[in-house]
Amino acid sequence: MKTIALYLRLSNEDINEGESDSISNQRDLLRNYISSKKDLQDYEILEFIDDGYGGATFDRPALNKLLRLTGKTIDIVIVKDFSRFGRNLIEVGNYIDQVFPFLGVRFIAVNEDYDSNNYKGSTACIDVGLKALIYEMYSRDISQKIRAVQKSKFQKGEYLCTLPLYGYMRCSNVKNKLIQNPETAPVVKRIFELACEGKTATQIAVIFNTEGVPSPYMYHRAKGTDKKRGWKLSSENTIWTNAIVHRYLSDERYTGKQISRKRTKIDINTKKTKQIPRSEWIICEDAHEPIVSRDVWKQAQLVMKPYRSKPYAIADYNLFKGLLKCEYCGRTLTFFKNIKEPCYRCPTRRFVTFCECKDVRINEQQLKDFVLSEIQRQIRVFVFEEIKNGKPDNNRFQVEVERLEKQLKQLDCKKTLLFENLADGKLIKEDFKEKTAELCEKKIALEKEKMELLQKLNSIYASEDNVPKEWGKYAGIQELSQQLVAELIQRIKVFPDNSLEIVWNFKDCIKD
Ligand SMILES: [Zn+2]
Repeated sequence: MKTIALYLRLSNEDINEGESDSISNQRDLLRNYISSKKDLQDYEILEFIDDGYGGATFDRPALNKLLRLTGKTIDIVIVKDFSRFGRNLIEVGNYIDQVFPFLGVRFIAVNEDYDSNNYKGSTACIDVGLKALIYEMYSRDISQKIRAVQKSKFQKGEYLCTLPLYGYMRCSNVKNKLIQNPETAPVVKRIFELACEGKTATQIAVIFNTEGVPSPYMYHRAKGTDKKRGWKLSSENTIWTNAIVHRYLSDERYTGKQISRKRTKIDINTKKTKQIPRSEWIICEDAHEPIVSRDVWKQAQLVMKPYRSKPYAIADYNLFKGLLKCEYCGRTLTFFKNIKEPCYRCPTRRFVTFCECKDVRINEQQLKDFVLSEIQRQIRVFVFEEIKNGKPDNNRFQVEVERLEKQLKQLDCKKTLLFENLADGKLIKEDFKEKTAELCEKKIALEKEKMELLQKLNSIYASEDNVPKEWGKYAGIQELSQQLVAELIQRIKVFPDNSLEIVWNFKDCIKD
């Protein structure tokens, strides 16, 4: 008759934890599991019990006995969870990955839903099995312990971030306590005073920039504390902006409260965090000296309110997000969407008076047209080069497309001429209309022909090379998408005269 071995273990630490891991509980769980599985009936059941032994060592009497019998009289080993079997990752892994498969022994860990039969002949077993063990051993225990400690620190109002909140500094006598920073606390105080006087966040930023108050980033940089947070030098942070002022104005911690655990990790396997509802924040009143009173803070919130939703709010979606850089000051251009002609502008002038930076302004539609035509130009040159190097026969395509382009240009010239003639009175309106319509039709036909050629080129290119390289895989594109833009473009330089230069992620086929 075949045999199942139940392995039950209880350590002295487990006893302190309560009943859940008691020997009788483990036994019930395992026997229930066995009776629920059809394929586990008709087995003789043996119990191996180590009471009062920790899982770190494998030198346990019952376990030793069990391991001696595995593969001889024992066919299946079943435990409540991996850590019952052992808490030594390498040894547990060795048994599950090597010893048991070699002996033909089936291993089941009920709580982790692990059954070696499900992983026969695959290397996934070590993965699945040990992942569960690692989780069990390190993450659950340790991260819960850390969290518990952290939570009690939060409740006591301790400040656990690396960098002190702007306006404060760490107290040298009391650990994790904030005290007012004599250099920056007055700045915070003034932000609130100005807001209560009715100044907007933008106006406050302008005042500070005019007076030469260092921005929070520049302050940290001067003190050398920027490195603690791993801040990279970005021209974005070198001046005060409405966003910074807004952030401070709405930060309730300036009233002396400590607010912790606003966000939490989604789970222990990722770094991603999620927001926690306000009701679950850990708030400690009077954790540190307030910089502003509660009344002033509330007043500032009221004053700020009307400015929250501006008629032309900066759009959160834009095709060229973060790509356009002002070549004068280095700042990223911001996108103004809700205006008649959506455009990108260098924001520096908004916050700095007597700014030497030119008011660059790039029309969105013109930018799109420019970028698309530049991309098409690059692709064409690249594909032609590639084909030329491989098969000279395909050169005729290049000639064809160039011919079409020339014709298209001529059409545009003719159209301009028609306008001039109309303006000069050399052409009557009806004739003008008729002739422009003709030109339009021709143009559409030529564009179509050009596109077909480009697609043909693309397919030739793709079939010759199977996986088109770099520019080649984009051949034939007619429209911009955010993904495409992000893949192809590293940066778009915007010069004071509004001229543009694209820095590509691929080799520039025209320049080089
Ligand atoms: Zn600029």
